[in-house]
Amino acid sequence: MYNNKINLVDLTAQYRTIRKEIDKAVSRVINKTDFIMGDEVSEFEKAYGKFLNVKFAIGVSSGTDALHLALKAIGIKSGDEVILPSHTFTATAEVIVWLGATPVFADIDKDTFTIDPKEISRLISKRTRVIIPVHLYGHPAPMDEIIEIAKKHKLYVVEDCAQSHGAKYKKRNTGTIGDIGCFSFYPGKNLGAYGDAGMVVTDDGDLAEKIKLLRNHGRLEKYTHEIVGYGNRLDTLQASILLEKLKHLKKWNNQRIKNASVYTGLLMNVKEVQIPVVTDWAVPVYHLYVIKAEKRDRLKEYLKSQNIETGIHYPLPLHLQPAYVYLGYKKGDLPHTEEVSRKILSLPLYPELTTDKIQYICQCIKDFFS
Ligand SMILES: *Cc1c(COP(=O)(O)O)cnc(C)c1O
Repeated sequence: MYNNKINLVDLTAQYRTIRKEIDKAVSRVINKTDFIMGDEVSEFEKAYGKFLNVKFAIGVSSGTDALHLALKAIGIKSGDEVILPSHTFTATAEVIVWLGATPVFADIDKDTFTIDPKEISRLISKRTRVIIPVHLYGHPAPMDEIIEIAKKHKLYVVEDCAQSHGAKYKKRNTGTIGDIGCFSFYPGKNLGAYGDAGMVVTDDGDLAEKIKLLRNHGRLEKYTHEIVGYGNRLDTLQASILLEKLKHLKKWNNQRIKNASVYTGLLMNVKEVQIPVVTDWAVPVYHLYVIKAEKRDRLKEYLKSQNIETGIHYPLPLHLQPAYVYLGYKKGDLPHTEEVSRKILSLPLYPELTTDKIQYICQCIKDFFS
């Protein structure tokens, strides 16, 4: 038994490995007092754009704001419909409602947990304008099928990449396949700031210009406001931290992949557990390691009693949430989503997680089922 609790994520473990560089970067910004749109913002935009191999990268205040500005720049408005999976974080749907449009929830593929293209075809109407695939847990959605449907119906594709920094779909980076990619740098994400931060990326120059204006009160110059915008800038302190952390992202993603493979090796033959499925076109980055398990709630309780923290991402699908009752969905509408939400369990996973801890966690899971 581990006396110290094993956390789902451990941000302190990572900070310990990069403390010097981070402290130096933060102190440099504070000494310059260049807090708003300082040099580090454009430096980080350039570096992240290069990392993804995309033309334009625009730093914003969060992943949620990235999604909001993306839809706003496309021109989403009242009466429009946007198709998205119900099995995602609420932010993906919220931003649609902010613009007066209607979220249309699709079911997922129950192996990859990503939107099912057949569902998209079923849900398209005259009002549909955008599809938002979510590369959930760091596993890419089936982009070829989604792009084909979007082309046929003249729809935009906005990728929610909040969990997929560096994940690849057929050798291409998630976020660079659709019209716009939206990233979150929430602290626990694969690339995390020390507060809220996000990024919008695109190869479309017109959309990029629009998003640049929107994030900063509709201006490029100090007091000339071309359009009505928002206060959605990425702040310099977060950019300086992200610049340092980006240097380690590939290594950290590889450590996540290695840790995931240790789990997979140890859980493969536990018949009550289904390990994550990886399709042959995907290089996932394991934002989370999510199993499907029998007696999920009791297993979660048991692991807690053994000092192991787990999570459920997400326990109640969006189409059944109180906030979206007004849309009129009912239980049974999205069967795969609902089944998955009853069985999923996120096990501890972060780059610094040690193999002996993973072995202990897997032993506890086996003990529970024996
Ligand atoms: C984290 C997350 C968001 C929101 O990002 P924030 O930076 O927290 O606003 C959106 N979508 C998904 C799938 C997420 O995991």
